[in-house]
Formats: sequence, C-alpha cells, structure tokens
Amino acid sequence: MSEILLRGILLTTTLRMLNELRDPKSVTEALHQLGREMGEIALVAYLRSVKGADNDLGTFLSKSIPSWFKTIMGRGLDNVRISESGKTIIARYSISDCRLCSGIISPSPDLFICEVVAGALEWIADQRSGELGFEAPSCHETACRARGDGFCEFTLSLKTKI
Ligand SMILES: [Zn+2]
Repeated sequence: MSEILLRGILLTTTLRMLNELRDPKSVTEALHQLGREMGEIALVAYLRSVKGADNDLGTFLSKSIPSWFKTIMGRGLDNVRISESGKTIIARYSISDCRLCSGIISPSPDLFICEVVAGALEWIADQRSGELGFEAPSCHETACRARGDGFCEFTLSLKTKI
C-alpha cells in the first residue's frame, strides 16, 4: 500500500474521530486504542524484524524495538535514550523523518497523530512483559512533527519486578 494512501486513511480517520469526539485529547486516546487493537498485526512485523536472541529486557529495549520501528516506519530511529530510576525504566525513541505524519498538520497541539504507533508498541510490550520480567508498560507519543515538534518521539515506561 502506498504511503500516501496510508497517510490519507490516518488523516481521514483522525478527522472523523475529531468530528465525533470533539476533544483532541480524546482523539489521541482513541488513536492509542486503535494502535492496541492493531497490536497483533504489529507483532508480526516485530517477529519479522527481531534478529537473534531477544530474551532480556536490555536487548528488547535497545535493539528489538528500534528494529521494529525501522520495519513499520520504513526509516531508522535517530535517537534511543534509556534511563533507569529505581524500578522505573523509561525508553525514548525519536525519529525525525516519520513517514506516517509527513505532510500532515495536526489541528491541535493536544492531538498526537502518530499515537497509533505508541498504542501498538504498548500492546507488544504487554505481550513480552511476563517473559522479560516487567509490568505496567505504558507508551505514548510525546512529540510529533505534525504538531510542530522537530521529530516524533515515543516514550515507553515500565516497571521491573525485581
Ligand atoms: Zn509522526
């Protein structure tokens, strides 16, 4: 499917949601849920992109997820930052040439168009949580080019069990 068609579907869906829900924050949340519902499709891309052993949290965050982004976005990430504070781990993934929102201008700063990707990643993290020993994964898009930021950024946070 062409990128233009995909962007068209995303933009049309988003505007339709905005028409129905009115509140841009609710639309962002709806896009998040849409991403979670697409999780299984995104997981297929994940399994295809992950190479080699993927059975520890460090590899999952620093190698598998970036490979997954490259597969679904068609572009590599520009930056991966992982920080740890007690049991909380926060991983930030940024991409300056996001093809998903390219050419789209968000109608509100509260509307994060690429949140659908964050929802899909959160769902994948949910599936891996038991095996990799963490809980409560949460992922949101924290910067988006469509709302005027210099890049799109996805922030995944989770809590280790130990
Ligand atoms: Zn984007």
